[in-house]
Amino acid sequence: MKYLDEYRNEETISRMVDKIHQLVKHPWVIMEVCGGQTHTIVKYGIDELLPKEVTLVHGPGCPVCVTSLEMIDKALEIASRPDVIFCSFGDMLRVPGSKRDLLAVKSEGGEVRIVYSPLDALKIAQNNPHKKVVFFAVGFETTAPANAMAVWQAKKLGIKNFSLLVSHVLVPPVIASIQQSPQNRIQGYLAAGHVCTIMGWKEYEPISAHYKVPIVVTGFEPLDILQGVYLVVKQLEEGRAGVENQYARAVKREGNISAQRLIFNVFEVTDRKWRGIGIIPKSGYKLRHEFGEYDAERLFEVDEIKAQESPACISGQILKGLKKPHECPAFGKECTPGHPLGATMVSSEGACAAYYNYGRYLKLPAMSP
Ligand code: SF4
Repeated sequence: MKYLDEYRNEETISRMVDKIHQLVKHPWVIMEVCGGQTHTIVKYGIDELLPKEVTLVHGPGCPVCVTSLEMIDKALEIASRPDVIFCSFGDMLRVPGSKRDLLAVKSEGGEVRIVYSPLDALKIAQNNPHKKVVFFAVGFETTAPANAMAVWQAKKLGIKNFSLLVSHVLVPPVIASIQQSPQNRIQGYLAAGHVCTIMGWKEYEPISAHYKVPIVVTGFEPLDILQGVYLVVKQLEEGRAGVENQYARAVKREGNISAQRLIFNVFEVTDRKWRGIGIIPKSGYKLRHEFGEYDAERLFEVDEIKAQESPACISGQILKGLKKPHECPAFGKECTPGHPLGATMVSSEGACAAYYNYGRYLKLPAMSP
């Protein structure tokens, strides 16, 4: 199959659902790691097509949701400075920091611009030599090559008024950290296809072998998800644990070697704090020492900022697959996309926003007769 429609075809989907129903004998808990997959599952009601024995839980694969509160506060602090143009993808603008968000900084006169690529931010730096242009480099391995390229170009062209506020996070260490938790209930994973287009799946092999947990690289269309679930359940029912690739049309075991080379020329692995989860060793990228002049944290001296989460928000438990959005007492009441208390309600890929936007478990007010 090559085209998108084939992955949404009702007959093919229904056959795959039947295959899963015939296969399942025991209860299983499977996590889809990626927020894009969560969105597909909730939008198409895929979890409701599955046998009752299969529980899908939503993982930490939404980059906006897992960017730490400290990092958001650092972004707010830098963006508030009068000599700065702060550039970001649009979905970061409404993520709440400790007291406000980037949209509030913009409305107060801060120069906050939405860009579609870090190279757009680099162009802004070239066109505004008297301003300091900062790009908020959030995301998983998928966005790292473009961010690395922007820094690489800046160095090559001798552009000095450009920097990155880096908050990159990595998928394999967070899967290992979920598996290590004494509360863990996840028995199999759908790994995010787009991350694997860059990094391949060889990094998952030691995790799968060590924790004896099936991991299936999976795409984003309804049929992709169902095939991913089928492959995970098949391994579980047969007592096997390995890495398989459902997304063969886009992903190779080795990934994209040139993109990896570019990443590791500019970045190195570091410990990273995940919002709601805490510090996970070796779970992020930072700029290598040779690119220190492009490191906004260092340039703007915001290292010391500490932050406190809203006590009402349980997004950490949601990101680890321990709870679902509707189990949060604030869901759809104090916390809505219009007034988010936590990042999982802000981002379009966040599990809370997906449940809210598709009306899952929302108690709507009774209609008057
Ligand atoms: S519903 Fe709101 S408060 Fe509750 S976990 Fe989600 S983002 Fe946090």
